[in-house]
Amino acid sequence: MRSHAEWQSLAAGVRPRTQLFIDGSSVAAADGEAFETINPSTGLVLASVARGKSEDVDRAVRAARRAFDAGSWSRAAPTHRKTVLLRLADLIRTHADELSLLDTLDGGKLISDTSTIDIPGSAGILQWYAEAIDKLYGEVAPTGPGDLAIVTREALGVVGAVVPWNYPLEMAIWKLAPALAAGNSVVLKPAEESPLSALRLAELAAEAGLPDGVLNVVSGLGPEAGRAIGEHPDVDSVVFTGSTAVGKMFLGYAATSNMKQVWLECGGKSSNLVFDDVEDLDAAADKAIAGIFSCAGQVCSANSRLLVQSGIADEFLQRVADRAAGIRVGDPLDPASEMGPIVSSAQLDRVLGYIATGNSEATLTSGGQRLHAETGGYFVQPTVFSGVAPGSTLAREEVFGPLLAVSTFDTEADAIAMANATEYGLAASVFTDNIRRAHRVSRALHAGTVSVNTVDALDVTTPFGGVKQSGYGRDLSLHALDKFTSLKTTWFANS
Ligand code: NAD
Repeated sequence: MRSHAEWQSLAAGVRPRTQLFIDGSSVAAADGEAFETINPSTGLVLASVARGKSEDVDRAVRAARRAFDAGSWSRAAPTHRKTVLLRLADLIRTHADELSLLDTLDGGKLISDTSTIDIPGSAGILQWYAEAIDKLYGEVAPTGPGDLAIVTREALGVVGAVVPWNYPLEMAIWKLAPALAAGNSVVLKPAEESPLSALRLAELAAEAGLPDGVLNVVSGLGPEAGRAIGEHPDVDSVVFTGSTAVGKMFLGYAATSNMKQVWLECGGKSSNLVFDDVEDLDAAADKAIAGIFSCAGQVCSANSRLLVQSGIADEFLQRVADRAAGIRVGDPLDPASEMGPIVSSAQLDRVLGYIATGNSEATLTSGGQRLHAETGGYFVQPTVFSGVAPGSTLAREEVFGPLLAVSTFDTEADAIAMANATEYGLAASVFTDNIRRAHRVSRALHAGTVSVNTVDALDVTTPFGGVKQSGYGRDLSLHALDKFTSLKTTWFANS
């Protein structure tokens, strides 16, 4: 890992791309407007970026449709698409420093994370789908002997992808990799807090040989560019990652436009259940900390509720509080920092608001203050509240920040009931040394992913997504292709 000074010097040389990318070219917004993206470590303007609106989305959708209909991507042999996407994965690796820095400067993410997890992970996911796409076969249906019916996967057409800021490039790649591998054209809208890595990615995709119009990136604001994608009559499907409130809006946009498909990966309030049979409480405490404070708690599947069995509650809470207090919060360009800033001043206010609520309904056990205000950055202490009552605000609402809500339980049944008492169902973790309990509890939890004796486990090989108001449909794994293809049945009659 490079030193802080080396990363600072590289950061000084980064030149963000600030225009929309439509039909293979960088272009200004039709009305010439722009918005500012802020560096959350300093509160200063990082770049002024083209503010795409409905006219720009329409240009992008028309380019995407033309490219799809022309067929140079959509009807190319899967081996060709594989070759181009592998080239793009290589280009991401070649430009890893630049892309890591863009996500760190724009989103406040630790350089130690972007350079080792987000950017290499993005290249790996792209590679995985590229490698998969020429190994998937269709089906011959078991009809009667007089007929032949084949089932093939067809690309959908124009896919709109609207993504959040917590993993700017990686969330985009989760959508783009299977969408493009399957032969679709895409209009991507990155979050207004972190548009820069997506704009650079579009250029790299063109360099890799993706035909013009197949990948378009429209930076802009949610209620403008995001809404225009949701309402566009020629978008076939929208894949969205973001809040539950906005996810519901996309269902409305589809209902009042062309009934496009809508696939939603939304919020969460995931529980980490720690039972009193756990022998290695230190290891479990390390995981509990990682489960909430990675990425400053701005992770949809963050284990933001810690449920501890009463017999070990005091000693476990002590371990968690000590560790939280020891986390080094600071400049994300410094590899020694263990937690960076919150993404924006609006999000900082939201987190501080929840800390105020916590002070009135629970016990502050660690943290609770803004930090390094003199830098202009949006830093806050890792914060732990204990004695969080079931049904209280901290037990129910997604904070999306470094705030852990700790509650205790007596019985296994109580733990399951508390964990499931939420409108969300993205993830859950169970710590137990009893394998029978691990089976019972993991089956009883309402969540898309249950991690046993770890937190937030995921991999490109396994599906990721939620139940209840965390959304539906799955990212990652071959199952993600269900969102980007439709099944076509073709009958060949014999008489
Ligand atoms: P958000 O919903 O505010 O924004 C997400 C995207 O939607 C952004 O691109 C934004 O510009 C766009 N958007 C905002 N308002 C819109 C509107 N009215 N119409 C159309 N588009 C609009 O969410 P966020 O603050 O960027 O991210 C935090 C949320 O995302 C949290 O709830 C978190 O749990 C969720 N999230 C979920 C996952 C997952 O995989 N389930 C992953 C990351 C984040």
